[in-house]
Amino acid sequence: MENRYDLIVIGAGPGGLSCARLTRRLKPEWRILVIRKQEKSVIPCALPYALDGTITTDDYIKSDEKLLKNANIDLIIDEVVSLEPDSNAIQTKGGGSFNYGSLVLVTGSFPLIPPIPGANLKNVFSIKDRPDILSILEVINDVKKAVVVGAGFIGLEMVNAFYNRGIEVSLVEMEKVCLPKNLSYDLSDVIKDDLRKRGVNLFLGKVLKEIKGGEKVEKCLLDDGVEIEADLVVLSVGVRPEVSLARKSGVNVDKRGIIVDEYFQTNIPGVYAMGDCIVSKSFITGKAENGFLATNAAVEGRFVAANIAGKKTPFPGLINPAITKIFDFSCGAVGFTRDAARKEGLDFLYSDVEVYMREKAFPGAVPLKMRLIFNRDNLELIGAEAISKENVSWIINALSLAVLNRNTANDLAFMQYCGHPPQIDVPAKMPVVLCAIDVLKQAGRL
Ligand SMILES: Cc1cc2nc3c(=O)[nH]c(=O)nc-3n(C[C@H](O)[C@H](O)[C@H](O)COP(=O)(O)OP(=O)(O)OC[C@H]3O[C@@H](n4cnc5c(N)ncnc54)[C@H](O)[C@@H]3O)c2cc1C
Repeated sequence: MENRYDLIVIGAGPGGLSCARLTRRLKPEWRILVIRKQEKSVIPCALPYALDGTITTDDYIKSDEKLLKNANIDLIIDEVVSLEPDSNAIQTKGGGSFNYGSLVLVTGSFPLIPPIPGANLKNVFSIKDRPDILSILEVINDVKKAVVVGAGFIGLEMVNAFYNRGIEVSLVEMEKVCLPKNLSYDLSDVIKDDLRKRGVNLFLGKVLKEIKGGEKVEKCLLDDGVEIEADLVVLSVGVRPEVSLARKSGVNVDKRGIIVDEYFQTNIPGVYAMGDCIVSKSFITGKAENGFLATNAAVEGRFVAANIAGKKTPFPGLINPAITKIFDFSCGAVGFTRDAARKEGLDFLYSDVEVYMREKAFPGAVPLKMRLIFNRDNLELIGAEAISKENVSWIINALSLAVLNRNTANDLAFMQYCGHPPQIDVPAKMPVVLCAIDVLKQAGRL
């Protein structure tokens, strides 16, 4: 009986931990086991900040040992190497063998390495876990010039960190804009202009073809023949779901991840999957989509816990609320940006505002640019984007709920809200309301 658990969770990232912890609350009597292969469990989102000393390399270590112990959840550090669905059993590299009532695969993702010459040279890195940051810190004092490839959230956070260390940074991105997946081009141009002003060398609309060097990286060759000198390169061009255990165990997988139903159940009874390792679907279009966010994984973990504990809770789909801070600018989005909606061929209306987050007379008041995107047909909110020198997370989180609730421009135009001049702008200029009224007018409904 010692090795039989009601629930076994493979993976101790945000998805695995949120699932195990909620299951414990819902099922106090269950035996629960979490297994992870990483030696130390980290908060991946905090990794870039250890490079410039904002935090130490210990600050991003999650003490999941203590957390799980307090919740009476067992933790084993080992790699699960096989899953035998017929006998509800798993085996670990270290020789452990365990039986489960329910099993959850939360095996995460790994960085995509482009198949180009030189990608394996010394001083070429990708960022996923603690060892990646420790390896960069080992060589960073000798680095004068860094090249970051990929202008998504992680790439830009790395640019910010290298810049803060006084390193000359070049940024290469195949799209002509920064944050191509997270902001429309005109809003992200604020970031582009800021990077340029700071002296970051921008190579937008360019593709990395080759990394050149002897033993160590020396140059990056782009598709237009330009060569950029580099002592260090960070490849931040996306991730792929980690599905090797699932695939070899007969769990259905496609090229985008483990296939699950709306309850996160795989094709094998009693085996669930969620987080970066699955392919999910868009809440708005219903099309297959990857989440690749810690917040998505944590939310999905709660759905899985509820389902395993017997409260059938279907997942509505992903809306991908996301936020970062690049130098002084907080940038966030949820659902479709205007440009992404265009690319998808959606029929939509949108409106922009620029207002002061706090009443202008107060010290530190700064502008906020915000855009709301609505389905033209039923005027439901399908996306929002925001950028400001103040934290925009409150807007994105509030609007995430509005997207999930299928709130319309009419709901938002007549919403009720708080105001206090030193903290949030005067009542007449609530940006969400201003955008919603504008869209109602465009639609001839006001
Ligand atoms: C630098 C960086 C910054 C980021 N910033 C943000 C951010 O600001 N906001 C945000 O929302 N997201 C951010 N992300 C994305 C976020 O970290 C991931 O989406 C999230 O970690 C996915 O969670 P997960 O639980 O699905 O998987 P992971 O966190 O990848 O965890 C996978 C777990 O599975 C374990 N595992 C895998 N295979 C096995 C096996 N066979 N046996 C045992 N254990 C196994 C691993 O050890 C690990 O514990 C960032 C990512 C990076 C790399």
